[in-house]
Amino acid sequence: MNAAPEAPAPLLIGGEAAKGHGPILEAIDPATGRVSARYQSATSADVDAAVKAARESFAHGTWRTKRPHERATVLFEAARRIAEASETLAQLQMSQNGKALRECRAQAKAAAATFRYFASVCETMEGELTTPRGDYLSMIVHEPIGVVALITPWNSPMTMEAQKLAPALAAGNSVILKPSEITPGTGLALGRIVCEAGLTPGVLNVLSGTGLTVGDPLVRHKDVGMISFTGGTATGRAIARIAAERLIPVALELGGKSPHIVFADADVDRAVEGVFGGIFDALGQSCVAGSRLFVERPLYRAFVDRLIERANTLKLGPPADPTSDQGPLASFGHRERVERYVALARADGGRVLAGGERPSGAPFDHGAYYQPTIIDGLTNDARACREEIFGPVLCVLPFDHESDLIEQANDTAYGLAAGLWTRDVAKAWRVARRLEAGTVWINTYRELSIATPFGGMKESGLGREKGRQGVRLYTATKSIYLSLAGGI
Ligand code: NDP
Repeated sequence: MNAAPEAPAPLLIGGEAAKGHGPILEAIDPATGRVSARYQSATSADVDAAVKAARESFAHGTWRTKRPHERATVLFEAARRIAEASETLAQLQMSQNGKALRECRAQAKAAAATFRYFASVCETMEGELTTPRGDYLSMIVHEPIGVVALITPWNSPMTMEAQKLAPALAAGNSVILKPSEITPGTGLALGRIVCEAGLTPGVLNVLSGTGLTVGDPLVRHKDVGMISFTGGTATGRAIARIAAERLIPVALELGGKSPHIVFADADVDRAVEGVFGGIFDALGQSCVAGSRLFVERPLYRAFVDRLIERANTLKLGPPADPTSDQGPLASFGHRERVERYVALARADGGRVLAGGERPSGAPFDHGAYYQPTIIDGLTNDARACREEIFGPVLCVLPFDHESDLIEQANDTAYGLAAGLWTRDVAKAWRVARRLEAGTVWINTYRELSIATPFGGMKESGLGREKGRQGVRLYTATKSIYLSLAGGI
């Protein structure tokens, strides 16, 4: 995927390839620093055109009024086509965000599975009859909202895009997807594949471009009826303000600074692997990364030594090489951001126990590589412990008492995820219930199922994606009363 194609890839508007009127975007392969692809980008005029196409397709109603089992048939076909194209999609994502090919392949398969899941949910969706208090039938129906804007980040674009497209379409909406400017490739490719599975033109549109030139006019557009956003908390807050002004629903999956807790009675071998994968899988570029580690003091030194040993065995290398555990960070700019946080941690008195620098020599010289980094000696109020680094940086802290631990673990603006390791079931349950997080893992970490709701508390977001209720996120509830007076 390293040779950049001649013609920049177009936008997708109204079921057709459309010329974007903005500047050409270049996707940079972070493993090599070379341009991997070029993309046309949209302007606010293209946003208008896409919203118009979406609105007209919704008004026309060929998708919205399909019976759920008919929509499900199209979504099953989309799943089949995504699975068929999974190797191309995996290579594409790898060339744009540097994620290990192994993981990109798993994410492409998961994207197909997400469409299958929501096809099943679509086919089995039900309305409800409520208990009447008079001479009428009262019922609830769940209707599509209209034109929905879906905005996704660069870290796992395929996963996020499938997670938003499948339920929003299952609900009968028309959608406009705005992928990250760093990784526009998978969104455009998925968009084309899903359209070709049998969507009416205009039901699914994809606009590549930047947050300011495309994302902002999209969320402000008067005909957009809902926004589903995954990304950073600052952007999410800005979008929520606009949604509040416009009084439209918004779903926000935002950042995290998740506490990962190891009690002295934990199964240490499993906990080391769980904590290690919790932060260094995807090199910490994951909203659920377990980036603050709390270890009960009697186990602290031995556990941290095991982690350092493990970090020194992690093999960085080209993401396509099956012997590489991890590739580069997703972009050169992002690596600089990670480096600034490590410098800040050092200045705040942190001791770098592993990593803390770029690896040297081939094949690292031209890529955005960064070593897995473990830091101790900070307190929970240091900036490296409070702010989302979104990189391979683990801050470790000892704790003495459960109550103090819970206070520290919850002393964060975020509330996305948390993990804990102990053999004591009662303690596990007690602590899990006290942690302020949308997902808590006990004796495991980063297990995620499309069938289980996902989302954040506090500044980690609003609303829950995934699970059967994930389709409801994209619907409006309507109550209907049908009089029985005088017979029907
Ligand atoms: P950003 O918030 O910068 O961007 C996310 C998306 O929003 C991109 O498509 C971006 O476009 C777009 N965007 C940026 N500014 C605006 C705006 N003013 N209006 C509308 N859209 C805008 O996040 P990143 O892409 O940097 O992603 C990393 C962040 O995502 C991390 O903080 C991470 O925690 C979070 N995240 C959360 C997840 C969750 O499920 N909770 C999952 C994965 C990531 P562009 O990039 O083109 O400028």
